[in-house]
Amino acid sequence: MENIELLKQLEELHKISGCLEVNREGREEMLALVSGYSNDFIDSLTSIPGFDQQKPEGLAINDCAQPLGDLLKLYHSQVAMNGINGASGTHLGYIPGGGLFTSALADYLAAITNPHTGVYYASPGAVTIENEVVEWLKRVFNFPSSSVGNLTSGGSISMLIAFTAARDNHGIKGDKITRSVVYISEQVHHSVHKALRIIGLEDIIIRYVDLDSGHRIKTEALKSAVAEDVANGFNPFMVVGTAGTTDTGAVDPLDDIADVAQLHGMWYHVDAAYGGFFIMTSKKHLFKGLERADSLVVDPHKGLSIPFGLGGVLVKNKEAVLHSNHYVANYMQDAVMDELVQSPSNVSPELTRHFRALRLWLPLQLHGIEPFVASLEEKLLLIKYFRNELVRMGFEVAPEPDLSVSYFRYPFNIDADAKNHQLMDAIHADGDVFLSSSIIDGRYVIRIALLSFRTKKDTVDRALAMIERCLKRIES
Ligand SMILES: *Cc1c(COP(=O)(O)O)cnc(C)c1O
Repeated sequence: MENIELLKQLEELHKISGCLEVNREGREEMLALVSGYSNDFIDSLTSIPGFDQQKPEGLAINDCAQPLGDLLKLYHSQVAMNGINGASGTHLGYIPGGGLFTSALADYLAAITNPHTGVYYASPGAVTIENEVVEWLKRVFNFPSSSVGNLTSGGSISMLIAFTAARDNHGIKGDKITRSVVYISEQVHHSVHKALRIIGLEDIIIRYVDLDSGHRIKTEALKSAVAEDVANGFNPFMVVGTAGTTDTGAVDPLDDIADVAQLHGMWYHVDAAYGGFFIMTSKKHLFKGLERADSLVVDPHKGLSIPFGLGGVLVKNKEAVLHSNHYVANYMQDAVMDELVQSPSNVSPELTRHFRALRLWLPLQLHGIEPFVASLEEKLLLIKYFRNELVRMGFEVAPEPDLSVSYFRYPFNIDADAKNHQLMDAIHADGDVFLSSSIIDGRYVIRIALLSFRTKKDTVDRALAMIERCLKRIES
């Protein structure tokens, strides 16, 4: 092809592709629309329902250009107002999310500048921010600065990194898999089971350790289970403690579990995905011993109200993490190792990745830590307030929770399980505030979880009014 012809074709193509670089005027217009929408949405959060569900429509891609205004309307009706409102303080089910505005700004900046955060060389500044956030996590959780960490998309992926390091450090492969034992609580999050399966440990032996009335692991039961396994020639490999169980908000006796793990040379993993950041509050004493864990999972997208997509993992044994994620690691000297762990891609399965540290770094720098701690302290008081009110209304409540998750049920005289289920259905149909349910000790219960910075006394009062309304509805 002659260059003349080629240049003509390039010009034609540019006429079509050029719109991908939106010009300044266009950018200002789009930003104004998005900014207006965001402001209206945030302002509406205190009044709109926490839950509604419809089958989404009109979301298929039809390959032709449409105006942003129309797409925002579609987004609002089919996405933002559909399902559990993840940005609302009225999301009190499962484990609530948050959605800090300042994190959204960080995501915007990260996407605009698009640094590659897999490798230090590619973006020393962005990777330093990734590493500074990891250093901050080490300080918050009293992990030694020699440990390694990574910011992931969430707790489940963090768990994979931690468990893979555990597996490789203990050489759990081949015949050893079916002789090795993992000790967990019935209340462990299902991502623990999932992670074991994904990393090839499906056939490992799982022992459920007895729990006390507050749903915490009984250390004595753990001790005897391990002793029995040792006597029978099994290999006690790992014990998982939870700092804030999803269903009941219980914190296992972390320090006592650490003793047992240490005595038997087991890998000690602590899952603090939900409860971890309460270590900064008046509940600090419950977390004693967490710093003795070999690996730790935390979720800033839960306890710090960061929008979904930010988890963290800390692992003490650098070699183990590098072995799994960087294959020449075994032959590396310390100095080289320090350089290696500087790049996130050497300590996680990801290479090219979202610059996700910024969504925590920017809010921490803008607000300081104090408001985050105060928000968590608020939740600890609000759960007490909620439970006191429920008792006054005649409900049965769970044992005093360690953190900000609790459960309750109404003592119906007959068919209590079915009736509480009915009450849950009525609450979902009402939808003003979102709660979820569970089966605990074989009984149907309704759960409440308080965590978001947007959850305030008003929200809890709305929940109480809704529960009262729904109870009347099903009793009539
Ligand atoms: C939410 C949660 C997880 C899983 O984390 P994701 O971020 O949802 O992947 C693991 N453990 C506990 C205790 C949790 O609450």
